[in-house]
Amino acid sequence: MTFSPSSRSMSEGGGLCPGGGVGAFWQAWDWHKKLTPSPNENAHQSRVTMILFVLELEWVLSTGQDKQFAWHCSESGQRLGGYRTSAVASGLQFDVETRHVFIGDHSGQVTILKLEQENCTLVTTFRGHSGGVTALCWDPVQRVLFSGSSDHSVIMWDIGGRKGTAIELQGHNDRVQALSYAQHTRQLISCGGDGGIVVWNMDVERQETPEWLDSDSCQKCDQPFFWNFKQMWDSKKIGLRQHHCRKCGKAVCGKCSSKRSSIPLMGFEFEVRVCDSCHEAITDEERAPTATFHDSKHNIVHVHFDATRGWLLTSGTDKVIKLWDMTPVVS
Ligand SMILES: [Zn+2]
Ligand SMILES: [Zn+2]
Repeated sequence: MTFSPSSRSMSEGGGLCPGGGVGAFWQAWDWHKKLTPSPNENAHQSRVTMILFVLELEWVLSTGQDKQFAWHCSESGQRLGGYRTSAVASGLQFDVETRHVFIGDHSGQVTILKLEQENCTLVTTFRGHSGGVTALCWDPVQRVLFSGSSDHSVIMWDIGGRKGTAIELQGHNDRVQALSYAQHTRQLISCGGDGGIVVWNMDVERQETPEWLDSDSCQKCDQPFFWNFKQMWDSKKIGLRQHHCRKCGKAVCGKCSSKRSSIPLMGFEFEVRVCDSCHEAITDEERAPTATFHDSKHNIVHVHFDATRGWLLTSGTDKVIKLWDMTPVVS
């Protein structure tokens, strides 16, 4: 369901045709026309999963369980075009200025399409999550896309920066299920299945996590890892298990990475494994949290942030809607 406050119109997707068929439809309700619905009966072959109304273009974008993305004219209900995604979509965002649509799906990828009036072209796909994409959020000012996933992480895809930077944010113990962005303060709000609400400060210079390096022996003490039979034999040493330092990416043994640290600027708000030299190098300043954590006490599936009042609405699987005053933390 999507509501446009400026035009006072609402679009909602349904699972069954009014006639009882298996097609799925959406209806656009226009308050000016005394709540007259303009139904679209065959937008999808099965349940509508996401719907977005674009006032500027009079378009309704929708995705369905049939793995179809489609866009229609909101006035006439006429279908303008469609695209088949690789999996069922669970996140949908649109950039009005450049007419790019972002579709996140259950396979974990984000498909980016450029829409024309009646056709679309595939621009690129983002792959970075090890679980399905559960939510998308677009910041048209900084030109940054946030994707939340069932792998517990959020990835910030910096499109405006044009350097291919992707920053990971690790602050949830369960799947991330909803995202919202406070543009004026540059804070991202992520909500998880664990009931956690995390408010991320995105107005800091964040760093990408390093690639994990491959080595047959510890890159600190040179002890062989357990598959390195030759060195084990030559040096008469026992093979060790391989670990990776989250800060430098080096392959190290357990003894050389016995300490833990948070690395907030790399998105690790919780303590992670680091090698001994990185542990020494990280300053207290670098350990200062860049996010605040709150417990909503329900499994949040949808979130909406009202920037003018600083209110956050959350709805959960417990069928409860909660309203939060976020002004103490989002400001
Ligand atoms: Zn070692
Ligand atoms: Zn290190």
